[in-house]
Amino acid sequence: MNGITIALSKGRIFEETTPLLAAAGIVPLEDPESSRKLILDTNRPDVRLIIVRASDVPTYVQHGAADMGIAGKDVLYEHGGDGLYQPLDLQIAKCRMMVAVREGFDYERSVHQGARLRVATKYVKTAREHFARKGVHVDLIKLYGSMELAPLVGLADAIVDLVSSGGTLRANNLVAVEDIMAISSRLVVNQAALKLKRETIRPLIDTFAACLKKR
Ligand code: ATP
Ligand code: MG
Repeated sequence: MNGITIALSKGRIFEETTPLLAAAGIVPLEDPESSRKLILDTNRPDVRLIIVRASDVPTYVQHGAADMGIAGKDVLYEHGGDGLYQPLDLQIAKCRMMVAVREGFDYERSVHQGARLRVATKYVKTAREHFARKGVHVDLIKLYGSMELAPLVGLADAIVDLVSSGGTLRANNLVAVEDIMAISSRLVVNQAALKLKRETIRPLIDTFAACLKKR
């Protein structure tokens, strides 16, 4: 069987990937937002999609349960990228990884004083490495979502989170104080699948690359 499985997450990644898939002649037969199915057939008998949590995409591809997938740099960095070929930055789902604190919290001073900073985040590895580079001692608190709440209720002094418009930060009286890195989503391919299913996978990569050039 030379069919391929592509792992995607619902929401913005699926939405922003749909035009790329269409350019490659791939149209899902169902909409994951309305369907409860986790395996979606497409118009192409040799291509199916699986719908997984954004942070699980690299795991499915690494183990070959999916041949390829699309994941944010945030997720790939935390995962480590082992066993994944990353041929393309698709320039979708763009945002920034940032440090944010409560308005009025003197971040610079607290960092310079050498006090331990309590940092809440879903991105523990990214945060640990960022503060290590700066030589700032941190106590990391792992959260799975709604990071913005942590500084407001005294769980943490700062958060490390994704920011796009800044609207969520503003709505919660938080301000970004440091920019850690630019985030966008990448195509990831299982390295063994790339060799075994090259005649299906390579043209897809080439079509996606051509789409990016046209933008
Ligand atoms: P889950 O909902 O399963 O906890 P998630 O919140 O990370 O996961 P999404 O919000 O769909 O899932 O985010 C998927 C990817 O989109 C992220 O990994 C990131 O790369 C990117 N992303 C997240 N937030 C934004 C944003 N505000 N603007 C643009 N891209 C974003
Ligand atoms: Mg989200």
